[in-house]
Amino acid sequence: MTNLPKCSQCGSEYTYEDGALYICPECGNEWAIETAEKRDDNPSVVKDAHGNVLSDGDSVTIIKDIKVKGSSSPLKVGVKVKGIRLVEEVNGHNIEAKVPGFGIMMLKSEIVKKST
Ligand SMILES: [Zn+2]
Repeated sequence: MTNLPKCSQCGSEYTYEDGALYICPECGNEWAIETAEKRDDNPSVVKDAHGNVLSDGDSVTIIKDIKVKGSSSPLKVGVKVKGIRLVEEVNGHNIEAKVPGFGIMMLKSEIVKKST
């Protein structure tokens, strides 16, 4: 058994690897080998300050005091935020969450730490 993919053009099973390419001996098709390893700078991956990957529904802890627009008191270190939601990045803010005492807020993933 081989784990090489079938030819994308003719479906031949006799594909072989040659450097960074797969080659089909039957129709001469050549295509790039996709690396299974995800790149570390994949923008769709959101990481906390320690490099832990964050996902929807995670709980995080604030690790840096943040001034909050329209509020006299800052968001303090150690505040726990439950049920975060990853959102499309706006000015570096890529998490949306309901923060105790502040309501729904956008946060930067680099100022939180995943908590268990
Ligand atoms: Zn082929």
